[in-house]
Amino acid sequence: MKAGADDYLLKDENIQDAIVIAISRVMEKHRLEERNRQLMADLARKNRELERLSLLDGLTDIPNRRYFDRILAEEWERSMKAGASLSLIMADIDYFKQFNDAYGHPEGDACLQKVAGALHRALTDSRDFVARYGGEEFAAVLPDTDEADAIAVADAMRANVRALNIPNAGSEVADRLTLSIGVGSVAPEAASEPAEIVALADSALYRAKNSGRDRTSR
Ligand code: GH3
Ligand code: MG
Ligand code: MG
Repeated sequence: MKAGADDYLLKDENIQDAIVIAISRVMEKHRLEERNRQLMADLARKNRELERLSLLDGLTDIPNRRYFDRILAEEWERSMKAGASLSLIMADIDYFKQFNDAYGHPEGDACLQKVAGALHRALTDSRDFVARYGGEEFAAVLPDTDEADAIAVADAMRANVRALNIPNAGSEVADRLTLSIGVGSVAPEAASEPAEIVALADSALYRAKNSGRDRTSR
């Protein structure tokens, strides 16, 4: 049995019946083993799908905050080791409360989906990604990108959103939906944290909002 036999028979048994029983037992064992392999493969496939879904935003189908946090931490480490610059774009829709009030929440949801697509189309490198950071805020991570190139991407994002031509009657700065964007760029140093670049982009976004909205600040 240790050497790999499935079963054994005693010589003095009714050998014919015993063989039939032993063989059907072995066949059943193999059938169950095969079934088990299928179930395990199925489980692994479903786990991969769950993992993928857990990193996507349900409304816009772009990466979610969890994915953003995970990849930003990885890119931060990588940039630190490579001595490369890393950029972060934080975008927030202008007067979106007014948009919901004027056109309704379902229309607001549809608007978020279009904005997500417009932001994604402005990315220029396969390693760049834009995530839904929360509510009507989006964040893009741009590895190996300096501030000037990140501002160019941010301005392309704003142009793409303007080109959607989504009316926003409640906006005090434009006749249509616009974005305010903050850009942060750093070359991460040892003993530093990804939270630093988030704070940089966040305060730049605050400046964009306070200096009139519908603009990119750094
Ligand atoms: P500001 O120009 O200062 O950004 O003004 P704002 O009205 O956009 O203010 P704020 O960024 O605080 O607004 C957030 C609004 O976004 C409030 C909330 O109703 C709306 N919002 C957040 N998440 C969703 C969502 O999933 N769907 C819809 N329809 N609206 C959302
Ligand atoms: Mg907001
Ligand atoms: Mg807003």
